[in-house]
Amino acid sequence: MTEEALPVAYVGLGSNLEGPRDQVTRALSELDRLPTTRLVSASPLYASTPMGPADQPDFINAVAKLITRLSPLALLDQLQALEQRHRRRRQRHWGPRTLDLDLLLYAQRRQTSPRLTLPHPGIGERNFVLVPLADIAPDLKLDGVPVARLAATLGDDGLHRVSPRK
Ligand code: ADP
Ligand code: MG
Repeated sequence: MTEEALPVAYVGLGSNLEGPRDQVTRALSELDRLPTTRLVSASPLYASTPMGPADQPDFINAVAKLITRLSPLALLDQLQALEQRHRRRRQRHWGPRTLDLDLLLYAQRRQTSPRLTLPHPGIGERNFVLVPLADIAPDLKLDGVPVARLAATLGDDGLHRVSPRK
């Protein structure tokens, strides 16, 4: 398979503990080193106010575009192993974490299973996902609507860019 024909996957990164900017920056280069996977582009970093419990630090978020030979579940396994290597502590739902990696989209794949739902269910309502996704894939369509338009509709409440465009 030529590289151009490989599946494209988008991964959402988030961290609000133990040096979040560093956690996310390191995770981006680690994504590039996953087996049979390459980081094609990454959004700038954003700071966002937390969803859910408010008594926790702000998050740093970014979105990465990958091409990969891994299947969706094999990629999820790799993402979860990477979370573990960042000593992710899973204490409460939507609570603080050193690294959260969500598989947002994998090619045109649609599936619902206990371990993996594609596209990721939260994608359409979260500006900290859609705004960075729109930076690197403005014309990508979700249910027929370009990501840039979805991001503009959601607005940027609670969100601001903390690193320049790469
Ligand atoms: P959240 O990201 O919602 O805070 P977690 O990161 O703890 O929660 O993930 C909870 C579970 O979600 C994981 O065990 C994983 O198997 C499942 N999951 C389902 N779909 C996806 C997806 N697209 N990306 C990442 N995890 C997913
Ligand atoms: Mg997650």
